[in-house]
Amino acid sequence: MPVDQHAPAVPGGAASAGHPHAAGRTADRTTDAAELLRARGLRVTAPRLAVLGAVADLPHADAEAVLRRAREAVPTVSVQAVYDVLHALTDAGILRRIEPAGHPARYERRVGDNHHHVVCRSCGAVDDVDCVIGEAPCLVPSSTSGFTVETAEVTFWGLCPDCRSRTTD
Ligand SMILES: [Zn+2]
Ligand SMILES: [Zn+2]
Repeated sequence: MPVDQHAPAVPGGAASAGHPHAAGRTADRTTDAAELLRARGLRVTAPRLAVLGAVADLPHADAEAVLRRAREAVPTVSVQAVYDVLHALTDAGILRRIEPAGHPARYERRVGDNHHHVVCRSCGAVDDVDCVIGEAPCLVPSSTSGFTVETAEVTFWGLCPDCRSRTTD
């Protein structure tokens, strides 16, 4: 595969600001993201690549953080475009949206592995918790009211290390 032919639809899209020695890595990632979009039958566009890159850099980022990071790659991308892309990619199963109670929705690239989340009740920091038994639905309820259970979404709440050290100082 010729190396100079990735992402032809988006000239300059891979040139993200500020990390000159990461250029090769960024180009590979753009190719991967473009292939991911094509595999789901989605057109490869600069806003989609920028959002995918942003979410890869900032797992569990909210839409505002995704917007800020996406604008480093594509300064002209609009708020609406970022929200539209987040919704489209979530619907396509490329992104996963998690919605911890009382916090804005977060987005991540890690999809389809039935992992759970631990959320800091003080600052809202989110981290991954692997599926407890390694396969969905991970937890077996005592009664399912006749439903067939496929997945379980567990949110563990507590204090992150930063907040905990602040409260014990
Ligand atoms: Zn915290
Ligand atoms: Zn996660």
